[in-house]
Amino acid sequence: MSNVIRCCHCQFDISIPVVVIGAGAAGLIAGLAAHGNGAQVLIVERDANPSGSTALSSGLIPACNTRWQAASKVADNVETFSRDIRNKNKGEADELLVDKSCSVSGEVLHWLADNHGQNFDLLEGFLYPGHSVHRMHCHPKRTGKALIDSLVTAVDKAGIDIMTSATVTDIFASESSDIRGIRILRPDGSTEDIGCESLILACNGFGGNPGMVSKYIPEMAGAMYFGHQGNLGDAVNWGLELGAAVKNMAAYQGHGSVAIPHGALITWAIMMEGGIQLNSNGIRFSNEHEGYSEQSIKVLQQPGGTAWNIYDERLHQLGLEFDDYREAFESGAIRHFASIDELANGIGVSAGIIASSVEDIKAYKTGKKNCPFGRKFQETSILDGPPYYGVKVTGALFHTQGGLSVDTQAKVLRKDNSALPNLFAAGGAAVGVSGKGVEGYLSGNGLLMAVSLGYLAGRSAANMVK
Ligand SMILES: Cc1cc2nc3c(=O)[nH]c(=O)nc-3n(C[C@H](O)[C@H](O)[C@H](O)COP(=O)(O)OP(=O)(O)OC[C@H]3O[C@@H](n4cnc5c(N)ncnc54)[C@H](O)[C@@H]3O)c2cc1C
Repeated sequence: MSNVIRCCHCQFDISIPVVVIGAGAAGLIAGLAAHGNGAQVLIVERDANPSGSTALSSGLIPACNTRWQAASKVADNVETFSRDIRNKNKGEADELLVDKSCSVSGEVLHWLADNHGQNFDLLEGFLYPGHSVHRMHCHPKRTGKALIDSLVTAVDKAGIDIMTSATVTDIFASESSDIRGIRILRPDGSTEDIGCESLILACNGFGGNPGMVSKYIPEMAGAMYFGHQGNLGDAVNWGLELGAAVKNMAAYQGHGSVAIPHGALITWAIMMEGGIQLNSNGIRFSNEHEGYSEQSIKVLQQPGGTAWNIYDERLHQLGLEFDDYREAFESGAIRHFASIDELANGIGVSAGIIASSVEDIKAYKTGKKNCPFGRKFQETSILDGPPYYGVKVTGALFHTQGGLSVDTQAKVLRKDNSALPNLFAAGGAAVGVSGKGVEGYLSGNGLLMAVSLGYLAGRSAANMVK
């Protein structure tokens, strides 16, 4: 339960100028940025080991104007990147925030590489839906776990303290919502109070709080939550008590490709490069290229709330380039079918239905027929089996994109757009750039706001305490 304790002259035994709540990508980057701008920083994390949704993620960070893009001769800039975001969110996000997050995205990655030993690769080979150029950057191991571990190492090297197994339960603030400190609950039930001059909320959104999901995102009430369980909406609840505004609370990243019952993420690259989704009646039901986020709902609306991802050997090999997919394969989630008959049998439909779907796709590819859902098969390869591969999937909630209203310096805002005195928010704690619902999420919007706002919040909080 998150609370705000009002106090005028609170006294604390320990006081640290900048306190950051949450040690995911946003919190760790905020800590590094505040420290680099001369402030003493403490990062407080509820888990024994920092992980957050960042560790569960694929770790793909979109950024433009980077040296990694230049090395691959990818022409990209703030205008192109922000246009892609706007095209996806239909102009429903704060324009200034879109521009700011895009304009610092490359700068942050260069700073992390040059000052904090982070390594990035540009992900090439296929484009995620809605991105007009290759701009996904990742740790060479291509996992969110590698990203978070590498950031923790950088924080340790910088000499920044991370207090783990420390859940922040309360915030101390004056009547005018000037933050004075935080209360921490330890696993043994003891509490500690720590003063601060500015506070950064980097404790993500409310995906792990079923009550808040039902309230703000009723269409995902009861859906599988695939993010970090410790993200309980504390930032939103504290912010509201402090008089902050929240925005776009129904926005979220969903995913239409989580293997069941294994609970493994099946990379959307397979759909982008030619795979299709069939429902349990063996029928296609959507344009798989509109985006994996909105596909969560489309899959949940099918009989049983499930679908089958169907693809061929070439796409199976592409999948094997991803850790998550390899793990799913090793766990038996991915089934191999030597013929259309076997595939039909696996799904539980007649071979004729599957054969006709495959024939339709060939006709879409050659232009003899138009895909009723508007997918352009000309741009991708057709299914080229047998053999075929199939995996039963469902739609899931990955993370929430609504949150505290912030300005372009990550300062938390009231409804009248005035800033709270010394409160900042980054990553999933703050409103994202994904508009008002599930359709507005462009791949990478999650880590974009963790990385960009984390950097901005850290610098702003440090400047405030100088
Ligand atoms: C499966 C999956 C794949 C994804 N892939 C991508 C991707 O490739 N690219 C992309 O851009 N986005 C992706 N995302 C979204 C991305 O993971 C998030 O947007 C991003 O990690 C948010 O970072 P964060 O630092 O705000 O939150 P987190 O990484 O979740 O960190 C928040 C931390 O705050 C801590 N915390 C919470 N409350 C408290 C409290 N009261 N006291 C102390 N600590 C607290 C939590 O324990 C947690 O460690 C993915 C998400 C999922 C679930």
